[in-house]
Amino acid sequence: MTVDGATFTTNSAGQVTLPQRPADMAPIDILAAGYLDRLTVFRGQDTRLGLWPRTSRTGLTEADTINLVYTHVNWRGAPPLYQLGPVGGDSLRQRSSRAPVQVFYSNGFEGADARAIDTQAAAVAELNGALGGGLTYLPPSFAEIPASNLGELHVALTIDTTHESCAAGFAATGEFPPAGIAGGTLRVNYCSIRYAGNLHVAIHEFAQTFGLRHSADENDVMCPGSGVRAFTPKEKLVMRLMLQRRPGNIFPDTDACRWRPEWCVD
Ligand SMILES: [Zn+2]
Repeated sequence: MTVDGATFTTNSAGQVTLPQRPADMAPIDILAAGYLDRLTVFRGQDTRLGLWPRTSRTGLTEADTINLVYTHVNWRGAPPLYQLGPVGGDSLRQRSSRAPVQVFYSNGFEGADARAIDTQAAAVAELNGALGGGLTYLPPSFAEIPASNLGELHVALTIDTTHESCAAGFAATGEFPPAGIAGGTLRVNYCSIRYAGNLHVAIHEFAQTFGLRHSADENDVMCPGSGVRAFTPKEKLVMRLMLQRRPGNIFPDTDACRWRPEWCVD
């Protein structure tokens, strides 16, 4: 582990005690076997740095991390992962705010059946369980969508069969958090009331509003069309690791670019 040019060795628990507090913005570079290389800067906060495992007993592999966290996908891409752009080429997306996420039933839900409505609440509950309290989605409501503060991203649920993704054969779409700090509304659209009542589809789209992307593993919620209706231990681990990082973190595990952009210029 290198802090501000000085090298330290981690103990058997993977931790290091520094002889003195480093200067703010001091570069920190951690190379530890079994973990992604961590490159960050000291920001006068936590002196204990968590590392991101390359693999884990949950079945997590480095490829899962690349797909689920760092690969840009949307419905305009090509099968099987609807991937857009290079694998691992995008930054970690998530809210910069830890304020509870407000969720709203919007256009199309006025006439929806109880199953479609209840499925949204069930998906929120599943996501909250996976997030372990690090971020909380509020139960969906029929209230009017208010203006959001910077960093706050509401979720709007719609059923619109004329959305262009529907003609392309999609069940639903869920927007990802933007790359920068922004406030606004992320939309989850269902292409029919039936799809809105499909718990796999709902959980999958809600997870995209958190920032989770697609998996190639058919056991995962995030594998499109897998039908899986509960997050796997692997997916839960990834979400909790994401909550320890800031938006803008790039693969393998670097957030220094955001704070010291001059280090990241080729
Ligand atoms: Zn998807």
